[in-house]
Amino acid sequence: MNPEKIIEDARKSISRFCINECKSYCCRKGYLILRERNLELVTQNKSKELIKKKIVIKLKNNKYSLNMDIDGCPSLKEYKCAIHKNQDRPEACKQFPIFIKGNTIRLSPRCLAVKCGLFYPYISILLKNGFILQEKEFYHDLEIYKLLPETKKQVL
Ligand code: SF4
Ligand code: SF4
Repeated sequence: MNPEKIIEDARKSISRFCINECKSYCCRKGYLILRERNLELVTQNKSKELIKKKIVIKLKNNKYSLNMDIDGCPSLKEYKCAIHKNQDRPEACKQFPIFIKGNTIRLSPRCLAVKCGLFYPYISILLKNGFILQEKEFYHDLEIYKLLPETKKQVL
């Protein structure tokens, strides 16, 4: 079993649902942290204008916070991400709503697909392969589920 592959398949499986049903909620609400290298890409070269309007705020360590509550993400066009194929888009955009790091897999319940249980077939495969559901956690405003491997003996 390759968890990375399963998670990637899970993300791909909801693409139509994201556009047609959810209408890209996660690109229209909340905050997105940007780095210098993806600031102009995500803001469609409008960073100066957005900083003036306080929609983008400069943080420490050359990071920026994009408030998507007002007009959504500037790269969102007709509920689709205009920079989806660009490797420089933010890591959070690439991974949302399933984050995988080492043996830990986190699902964001902010996501409608998670709430609707659309990932269950994929989670089911992980559970059958030794991952276990951990307690919920809070990380900023997110409630997170963790799936951890039951044993290190399993082949990942
Ligand atoms: S919140 Fe979830 S279902 Fe909605 S667009 Fe984002 S990833 Fe897709
Ligand atoms: S860059 Fe794309 S995926 Fe990320 S928030 Fe904007 S529209 Fe959504």
